Amino acid sequence: MTKGMIPRTFDIVVAGGGLVGMAIAWGLVREGRRVAVCDGNDSALRAARGNFGLVWVQGKGGRCLPYAQWSLDSSARWAAFAAQLLRETGVDACVERPGGIELCETPQQLDEGRQLLESLRERDAALDYAVLDNTALRRRIPAASPALAGALYSRNDGHASPLFTLRALHEAFQARGGVYLPDNEVKEVIPRPSHFDVVTPSGMLEAGRVVLAAGLGNARLAPMVGLDAPISPLRGQIMVTEKLAPFLDYPTLVVRQTREGSVMLGDSAEQVGFDDGVSRDVMADIARRARTAFPLLAHARIVRAWGALRIMTPDGLPVYEQSQRYPGAFIAICHSGVTLAAAHADILAPWIAGGPRPRVLEPFVTARFNPSTTHSHV
Ligand SMILES: Cc1cc2nc3c(=O)[nH]c(=O)nc-3n(C[C@H](O)[C@H](O)[C@H](O)COP(=O)(O)OP(=O)(O)OC[C@H]3O[C@@H](n4cnc5c(N)ncnc54)[C@H](O)[C@@H]3O)c2cc1C
Repeated sequence: MTKGMIPRTFDIVVAGGGLVGMAIAWGLVREGRRVAVCDGNDSALRAARGNFGLVWVQGKGGRCLPYAQWSLDSSARWAAFAAQLLRETGVDACVERPGGIELCETPQQLDEGRQLLESLRERDAALDYAVLDNTALRRRIPAASPALAGALYSRNDGHASPLFTLRALHEAFQARGGVYLPDNEVKEVIPRPSHFDVVTPSGMLEAGRVVLAAGLGNARLAPMVGLDAPISPLRGQIMVTEKLAPFLDYPTLVVRQTREGSVMLGDSAEQVGFDDGVSRDVMADIARRARTAFPLLAHARIVRAWGALRIMTPDGLPVYEQSQRYPGAFIAICHSGVTLAAAHADILAPWIAGGPRPRVLEPFVTARFNPSTTHSHV
């Protein structure tokens, strides 16, 4: 569609075409809404294109059970979510859910991890797990090192290709009539009595509702519609090896083998502002941990490495909120946009389209950062 042909009036405009924005946008067109997604360009910060691809539940929500349950619900929905995307686009998100493994180098790590998972299972039996000693671990993964203390296993975890997922969402969204506007960052959102004016470099769009799903860009947009986005970047670095023969049937937090055979190595966290580069010391540590866990990786060649920025709230939990001052303006923030993609499409989108606010979202409001505020959710 050329610029001149773009309709200017939509039921809903979504700012941000990453995994969060596109999962919501696809959910919204499934609800029959006329939706436009305004996105940045190739130089934008884009966690959706630089992440590790885990669909992960294990260990999440230690201080907030609903977060564990929200993650579990999304993980359980992922197979159907990916199957529908495959039917609608022919693009396979490569999801697998064999369960996930957290590798522990020391008995202390194993014990601390076990205590966390036990406290979660006591509160919800569906958050079950198993402790694997080294022998049990190597029965499941013969390539694991005999030097590891053991591992924690949860059947609730899996992994997917984040890039194919994003591509499938883009194609499915547009196939249902959604309008994608790349290189078209939202400059301003102006609340009007009956709608929102959305100012973009290619002109003004008119929207009945707006969704701020612009990742780190939400910090600038949120105050325009009476919302708050207390977010900061947290860098992760990832390395990818050449393709290897299959040796790892389970995703782990540090190492996962993709369906094509390449091996992703990751799981670092650094507060370095908006620097999304890589650094030698962190890459060396990632490589050390990967080699310690799987000695066969010692000879694997690294073919790519990058840094990307997570979008973190102060307590690491998501924010899903509608503006009280300007109803119809929504914000969505999270740092697990792969894991939560299915729930964002299935549960968040119907609420944004006009349905009731799901009870499961109750804790995910910014009032939690200011306990003196009384808050009613809309
Ligand atoms: C190293 C790393 C590893 C990760 N691993 C995992 C994992 O294993 N599992 C998991 O579930 N999650 C993981 N994540 C998190 C996951 O990648 C993010 O939660 C998810 O990508 C967030 O998506 P997003 O759409 O909110 O943000 P982004 O992907 O950053 O997208 C934001 C989009 O908004 C656009 N934008 C910015 N400003 C504007 C504006 N003003 N107007 C319009 N558009 C705008 C940008 O161009 C961009 O396309 C990881 C993240 C990192 C960095």
